[in-house]
Amino acid sequence: MLNEAWKRRLIHIAHSGSGRELNLKTRMEFPKTVLGQKIHQSKTMTHTFPWLHKIKGRVLQDELLASHTSIQIGGPADVLVFPEDTRDIQTILKNREKTPLYILGEGSNLLASDRGIRGIVISLKECFKEIKRPLFFKKEDGKRRAVIKVGAGAKMSYLAKHAARFSLTGIERLVGIPGSLGGAIIMNAGAEGTEIGPVLRSVTRITRNGEIETLKREDLSFQYRKTIFPGEPGIIIEAEIELEEGDRSEIMTTMDRHLSRRAQTQPLTIPNSGSIFKNPEGDAAGRIIESLGLKGYSIGKAGVSIRHANFIVNKGGATAKDVTQLIKHIQKEVKEKTSIDLQTEIVIIGD
Ligand SMILES: Cc1cc2nc3c(=O)[nH]c(=O)nc-3n(C[C@H](O)[C@H](O)[C@H](O)COP(=O)(O)OP(=O)(O)OC[C@H]3O[C@@H](n4cnc5c(N)ncnc54)[C@H](O)[C@@H]3O)c2cc1C
Repeated sequence: MLNEAWKRRLIHIAHSGSGRELNLKTRMEFPKTVLGQKIHQSKTMTHTFPWLHKIKGRVLQDELLASHTSIQIGGPADVLVFPEDTRDIQTILKNREKTPLYILGEGSNLLASDRGIRGIVISLKECFKEIKRPLFFKKEDGKRRAVIKVGAGAKMSYLAKHAARFSLTGIERLVGIPGSLGGAIIMNAGAEGTEIGPVLRSVTRITRNGEIETLKREDLSFQYRKTIFPGEPGIIIEAEIELEEGDRSEIMTTMDRHLSRRAQTQPLTIPNSGSIFKNPEGDAAGRIIESLGLKGYSIGKAGVSIRHANFIVNKGGATAKDVTQLIKHIQKEVKEKTSIDLQTEIVIIGD
């Protein structure tokens, strides 16, 4: 047991970080808990990224990605930046040289490794989440439609509810997707036959060279859980979606029905990252996994959900290694017993 003097000393050391007094423009936060006390160290990144002080948005160092992924797994990212505007993103792109760069949405389809990310992670969820009022217009067929401009960090659920408030139909079945618009576009997220791809009118991105570019829907092509961009996808910062006017009460009923079905069939109260595997042609990955008796099968603290066999849940303290081993086990079993190669839907990042 530590005596009080030692505890005070340890907490003092934790507060002062490396012990060097540093002159900082940007505050780097190092949230940690030491002996029950929340510690916020401040220290500079001079040796690694001296240009980070130019960033206006929030910058965190050694931030655990477990706090930013829905399955609550993931080691520390060297740097996690919440850019305030496009200039912040361009500053990162201009200065990062060969440092690896990752984009994080809501982290709802992501498995980050236990050792985390050696590089820079950008998250748009703090400052790129504006959802504008719809602009209505009439099409040649006489139907009223509307365009909504949305920041890539906006949550899909908010967007679907916003559209419903204006009686706009087309994305009500996407209300239960817990991701951001940017993540939904990259993954061509979908539910019950609706996908985000077809309702996009344009997508604005920052290319890896720092150029802002607006792509039209015709420039993109959509596959099952994947959008194909000209070149690398880059960083999506905004999109316009085009929806048709519909019946508000029907839209609301569809949303409610959809949400309650999810609550009954998905393990929404246990950390998870959505569907682990893509559905093979003409079948459902969950049905196949369940048919092999793998529901509830666990490795470490990661288990196949009892509720939905295509979900892996974190039963408390699961590691990325537990999850990847479980994924491999499921793939092996499915291959041996059915000859089907299950492909992962989740994105795996990190060392
Ligand atoms: C309970 C649950 C239910 C789910 N149900 C569904 C469902 O019905 N249908 C479905 O399709 N998905 C579903 N998902 C998966 C997930 O929510 C979607 O894939 C979602 O679109 C991912 O968005 P995100 O913001 O969380 O992206 P993340 O998981 O953070 O990232 C996914 C990928 O997108 C990239 N990315 C994210 N934002 C940007 C950006 N702005 N610019 C460039 N790249 C970016 C990331 O780098 C990564 O490659 C579910 C997940 C959970 C946890």
